[in-house]
Amino acid sequence: MLDVLAAGVDLDARVATDPLRFPRRYREAADVEVAAAFAAALAFGRVALFGAVVEACLAEADAHGGPAAYADLLAADPARPAFAGRYYRWLTTPDLRALFAAFGGVRAALGGLAGAFPPSPEPGATLAMGIATLRGHLGPDASPALRSCFPAPDGGSACKRWCMFLRWMVRRAEPDLGLWTHLDPACLVIPLDTHVFRVAGFLGLRRGTVAGWRTALEVTAALRAYDAQDPLRYDFALAHLGIARACLGRRDPAVCPTCPLDTACRA
Ligand code: SF4
Repeated sequence: MLDVLAAGVDLDARVATDPLRFPRRYREAADVEVAAAFAAALAFGRVALFGAVVEACLAEADAHGGPAAYADLLAADPARPAFAGRYYRWLTTPDLRALFAAFGGVRAALGGLAGAFPPSPEPGATLAMGIATLRGHLGPDASPALRSCFPAPDGGSACKRWCMFLRWMVRRAEPDLGLWTHLDPACLVIPLDTHVFRVAGFLGLRRGTVAGWRTALEVTAALRAYDAQDPLRYDFALAHLGIARACLGRRDPAVCPTCPLDTACRA
């Protein structure tokens, strides 16, 4: 069932609409890391809106040697302005600059963003350490809005954006990037967005009624029954079922009979 769903996804077409398209355009690992982290941090709300901001900011970075070089430049020169006129919802121009500079700070301290995410056999522990390290490099003047982009799993948040970032960086199979081979895909936690949360309920993969951290762990554990080594194998297909509106979130006689999940769906 899930294999049929995943096999039916037009990866090129779906990636073109996904924030994963931003890191995929770079060749150097350092640029991929920074572009991925920046795109993930802004990946809330409508993809067309945050995508336009990510696009513009990365174009500015590209004009200064690429995302990694620009992050290093902004970290080394706190007075240097950046991203003039760019903002996204409650994230201001200084927030976007501080975010980029934080990635430069992590790179200076740890040699790369990968160093912020040490391996751990406990699902979620790597994520928690990484988020804490990134948050710690925002600086003392970081706004509450910017800090809210770095929630702690033990606060209950599903940490969807950073789970998604880790999926991109760690999973070895398409459409993900597989750059961080120091981490095991088996220890990833699913990015529990509204689409995955809803379909997971339809498939009986969760009992939790809140799209928080505990439910993310519950859904991930259920998906291990399908692939223990790569529990996030079906995440992209599940998420894009809703994003592409191939699932309307309810039974629909025109849609459900052709859905690969139809026989198992309890909607
Ligand atoms: S069978 Fe229908 S309601 Fe269930 S996941 Fe598929 S499209 Fe959605």
